[in-house]
Amino acid sequence: MTNAVEVPVKPMAFIDLVAQQRRIGVQIRAAIERVLTHGKYIMGPEVAELEQQLCAFSGAKHAISCSSGTDALLMAMMVYDIKPGDAVIVPSFTFPATQEAVAILGGTPIFVDVDPSDFNIAPQSVVDGMAVAKSMGLDLKGILGVGLYGQPADYEGLQALAESHGLWVVDDAAQSFGARIGSKRVGCLADVTTTSFFPAKPLGCYGDGGCVLTNDDNLADRMRSIRVHGKGADKYDIVRLGVNGRMDTIQAAILSEKLKIFEDELLSRNKAAEVYHDLLAKAPVQRPQIVAGRTSSWAQYTVILPEQCDRDRLQANMKAAGVPTMVYYPRPLHKQPANEAYPCAGDLPVSELLSSRVLSLPMHPYLERSQQEYVVEQLLKYLN
Ligand SMILES: *Cc1c(COP(=O)(O)O)cnc(C)c1O
Repeated sequence: MTNAVEVPVKPMAFIDLVAQQRRIGVQIRAAIERVLTHGKYIMGPEVAELEQQLCAFSGAKHAISCSSGTDALLMAMMVYDIKPGDAVIVPSFTFPATQEAVAILGGTPIFVDVDPSDFNIAPQSVVDGMAVAKSMGLDLKGILGVGLYGQPADYEGLQALAESHGLWVVDDAAQSFGARIGSKRVGCLADVTTTSFFPAKPLGCYGDGGCVLTNDDNLADRMRSIRVHGKGADKYDIVRLGVNGRMDTIQAAILSEKLKIFEDELLSRNKAAEVYHDLLAKAPVQRPQIVAGRTSSWAQYTVILPEQCDRDRLQANMKAAGVPTMVYYPRPLHKQPANEAYPCAGDLPVSELLSSRVLSLPMHPYLERSQQEYVVEQLLKYLN
């Protein structure tokens, strides 16, 4: 089948990092140049500066920058001393890194289902997960939630549930940094928050980077120690098991410049989401919904396709028309071969349904309305 389509003049990017460079490329180059001049590539002054800025932005008391979102999760699970016999509740519909740290430390991730309205961990499934831990004789330690696509999970509900069972809550906010529930920003919604500064995340650097945020002085001290091989008062005084989890100074310098425009970029992402919402009003897809009182940082704009839709063909058609799309994520974690040994809170039908039907459309702060109209036109051309 050859259908003649007009490809827009400007090739469309799924996430346009070049457009951002046009805006602050000069400042970013100057920031990198400053690091080259002072030469403190590891734990240079920009690292502490960035941490202060991240605290001011999020409202969290402590920000511990680190080498990636995955290492942030590892540091969080290490500070909670996860070990064999321990269990942590994790949603099945998320990026694979979420449960890795639990498993690497010998703990047991218990996969639970998500809610189709916000794509995040479903409180009822958490209750089922608790029963699974009990029946297996595991020592359940905490709940690891995710703010998938940019919207935080129901942390008020999860925190209340956790407190009544003596559990902690960790927020994997790799996609939702910058979002809020009420007046509280991500970083203050759970006992510990982890995030990623991978280039494609809402706030990204030019390489790998991440951060752990918390209001707890004791946890923060211990995570600072874990980040550098478990150091004590002295660098060669090793008081606990640690890792090399530092963020490079150059990445911190880049992030500081990007953080200055982040609030404005979040507004632009929100506007782009509103435009999609309106353009897709009559489309046979389910549009993402933001729960009242919450905001999203719109890491992704993800729709649920109709049941009979051939997603692969839809993506191929859109690609041929110059529109990049992505599937986050095609297989839920409880169906991954590497995770066969881990228990689930039942069948997790929502995670399975979503993985076969979700589609993410181009999303970034520099999307133009005309580009979005073209994306929707191509989507509708196939669906109708
Ligand atoms: C990207 C991502 C991570 C991992 O972050 P890295 O910086 O790539 O290690 C973890 N969890 C979620 C939900 C993510 O989207």
